[in-house]
Amino acid sequence: MSNEAILHFHPRVPTSSAATSPARSRLERLGLFLRHQRKSIIAIQWAVVLFYSALVVLPAFFPLPASDAHLWNNLRLCAQFIFWGIWWPGVMLTTVALGRVWCGYFCPEGFLSELASRHGRGKPVPAWLKWSGWPFFAFVATTVYGQLSSVYEYSEAALLVLGGSTVAAVIIGFLYGRDKRVWCHYLCPASGVFAVLAKLAPLHYKVDREAWDQTRPEPFNCPPLVDVRRMVSASDCHACSRCAGQRDAVTLAPRSPFDEILDRSTPARTVDAFTLLFGVLGLATVAFQWTVSPWFRALKMNTATWLVDHGHYALLADNAPWWLLTHYPEANDVFTWLDGLMVLTYLVPGGALLGGLLLIGPYLAARLLRAPGLNWQRWALTLTPLGAASVILGLTMTTATQLRGEHLLLTWLPYARALLLAAGCGFSLWMAFRLAQSCGKKLQACAAWLAMCLPAGLMAALWGMAFFVW
Ligand code: SF4
Repeated sequence: MSNEAILHFHPRVPTSSAATSPARSRLERLGLFLRHQRKSIIAIQWAVVLFYSALVVLPAFFPLPASDAHLWNNLRLCAQFIFWGIWWPGVMLTTVALGRVWCGYFCPEGFLSELASRHGRGKPVPAWLKWSGWPFFAFVATTVYGQLSSVYEYSEAALLVLGGSTVAAVIIGFLYGRDKRVWCHYLCPASGVFAVLAKLAPLHYKVDREAWDQTRPEPFNCPPLVDVRRMVSASDCHACSRCAGQRDAVTLAPRSPFDEILDRSTPARTVDAFTLLFGVLGLATVAFQWTVSPWFRALKMNTATWLVDHGHYALLADNAPWWLLTHYPEANDVFTWLDGLMVLTYLVPGGALLGGLLLIGPYLAARLLRAPGLNWQRWALTLTPLGAASVILGLTMTTATQLRGEHLLLTWLPYARALLLAAGCGFSLWMAFRLAQSCGKKLQACAAWLAMCLPAGLMAALWGMAFFVW
């Protein structure tokens, strides 16, 4: 982080005449316009905090919906639909389409954490907190716990997971940094996923390093601790526009959605590749699919049969509290200890196994085409479109279940799913082709591209089975 970015008083923003200069592109002017709208943006953020709080907190204090309740007349069902059916898939889509604007303009956790940091202790960020693996582990923990507690179905679990995360964000903000989003940069469970998906965004804040170095320093604040001078990736940028026009070097600009990954001069970080393979494509896919998987049912049945045959009944008890395992007898939805153990077993080793299998393709491709900047991490990142498609397919499974519960006929859905999956595979393979092509060694390039067909084919087969076979 540059010293310049540490300063946190009101910035000298570019003047409105500069913002409207005809030489500037529309996008550039939009970035500058947004920078001038801090008050309006803060008002929007407060409105989101209120709406989010109502959506997360209130439904948990209402009784479980009756069997004839609907999305439009029951607060719990309505909140579930808005939150998990529309909001979350929407956040993923906007991250792919516009970068991390959710983080920069709307996320209540980031906003509250920054606010707490403004008035908090302002301690320096300790070394243990700077470990780059925290977001991945937080993602694994919240994903697994969310499945064990049925976070998509029950408002109590949603309050615990999301409310707990918000409280943690405020505490971290209160303790560390000044006017910063230390939580978002180092700990947020969704930050790793957003960092990967934002690589595809066709909009980004572009930095002209030469212009930056030639102009006099001006104070400004980048809350998520991005080193703006060296920024070449949209992964960590919250697209908040607070650096737009900074030193006449930062502009909101268009780019090809594939530029960042294909440009071999930009770093392909291990943490991003790992999050994509083992988190977004590995664990998340298994977590989305376990409820429809015959493999999971077989694993559970065989284990239960073995336990009964050998007289071990303790794991078949269903006395776990609701905050540990799903426990809603009124809705006939109760997990036994065995259910919990099986979900844990299926998700964590299952996600790791899938991630490991997906890694084979990028690893082979990197071995086949040894070239500068073409490491396994970059090959893995060519699967980002597939990761985006996969996460949207998974999240919208909840949307579809909720709409079917209202007896809506979604006859178009299989076609839309097949199209999205095909687009994810197609764009990933096209990026792998472009990378392979850039090397000039025809035979090895062809073999490397074929290696990348392995992970794409595996994901297509898994989603194909989940939607059209199981
Ligand atoms: S780099 Fe600029 S736009 Fe991105 S988060 Fe920092 S201040 Fe905001």
